[in-house]
Amino acid sequence: MAIAAYGATAGDQPLAPMAIERRATGPKDIRIAMSYCGICHSDLHQARGEWKGTLYPCVPGHEIIGEITAVGSDVTGFAVGDTVGVGCMVDSCGRCQSCARNREQFCENGTTFTYNSPICDAPGHTLGGYAEEIVVAEHFVLRVRHHREQLAAVAPLLCAGITTWSPLKRANAGPGKKVGIVGIGGLGHMGVKLARAFGAHVVAFTTSPGKVEDAKALGAHEVVVSRNADEMAAQANSFDFILDTVAASHNLDDYTALLANDGTLTLVGVPEHPNPEPNPDNLVGGRTVDFSMIGGIAETQEMLDFCAEHGIVADIEMIAADEIEAGFERMKRGDVKYRFVVDASTLTN
Ligand code: NAP
Ligand code: ZN
Repeated sequence: MAIAAYGATAGDQPLAPMAIERRATGPKDIRIAMSYCGICHSDLHQARGEWKGTLYPCVPGHEIIGEITAVGSDVTGFAVGDTVGVGCMVDSCGRCQSCARNREQFCENGTTFTYNSPICDAPGHTLGGYAEEIVVAEHFVLRVRHHREQLAAVAPLLCAGITTWSPLKRANAGPGKKVGIVGIGGLGHMGVKLARAFGAHVVAFTTSPGKVEDAKALGAHEVVVSRNADEMAAQANSFDFILDTVAASHNLDDYTALLANDGTLTLVGVPEHPNPEPNPDNLVGGRTVDFSMIGGIAETQEMLDFCAEHGIVADIEMIAADEIEAGFERMKRGDVKYRFVVDASTLTN
């Protein structure tokens, strides 16, 4: 049966309503009626063909909150009516070393991502959350313990939340650590909230002077306007950890210069055009640059439970499906406060 979705037929075409099919609910599957779906900058990169390799039609969306409408015969952990989340992955082999270590995002036999991954069902690749419903393997369905009225603002935790949580945890961001968050967009604003909740000293870096007060309200102890060379110089050699969420190509040396000895700059942005190679001279003293990709299912559940317990959600602007294109254009300009979330009930209008 055809369901309503929103997607692109080519990189130079705007997103528009389309009809898609979902597979029947298999024994290990869970069928979810969509309530909300966040808009990640990855959705824009993918739909517009900025990463090459986009398979069309492309239905993006991997920050999903919905309600279970059917469960397969082998499903044990969930029931019809449960409110659940789905993030960037919908399946993996479950047997390889990465899967065994709860790192399904690195499945050696190929993670099935929520969109743009090859599958047998039509049209031959996965279609994401800008749709009325989705069918997901049970292992990739997350329990949501937030209050009902928070659910729209929980959706962005499924990607923006876990993508910042995972590297912050790995860096032991917490009391006594000085942590920088670069780029105050969807990921960055969650990074500020989480690093603050962990007890770190948090410094936000933004190119937008208009976000300074917001960044403080989100939890930053200090805010640096990165276009101001004096403000940047005042932070030299002082950071244990910097998380860089910028969605466009930029010079990393500006941030490696701010690391203390043994400090780490972790990148999560995947810009259309790669960042220039970092200058190795800045890395003397045990400083490192690395890249982090989302997080495993177990740590995603841990993040959701922590956020429910601490009342942490994203700051969102709720939009209708026919406003997704306008949202993409604003996101390109860095003008999002701080995540768009699509109200799925508008998909059928
Ligand atoms: P977003 O909401 O658009 O935020 C990106 C922020 O980067 C902007 O708000 C802006 O913050 C800053 N920025 C500075 N210069 C920019 C420029 N020239 N163009 C655009 N932004 C600029 O994006 P997001 O959803 O947080 O995603 C950020 C990046 O992470 C994207 O590349 C996305 O694909 C990637 N991502 C990676 C993973 C992963 O697993 N590694 C997961 C999700 C997303 P200021 O105004 O404060 O400067
Ligand atoms: Zn994302």
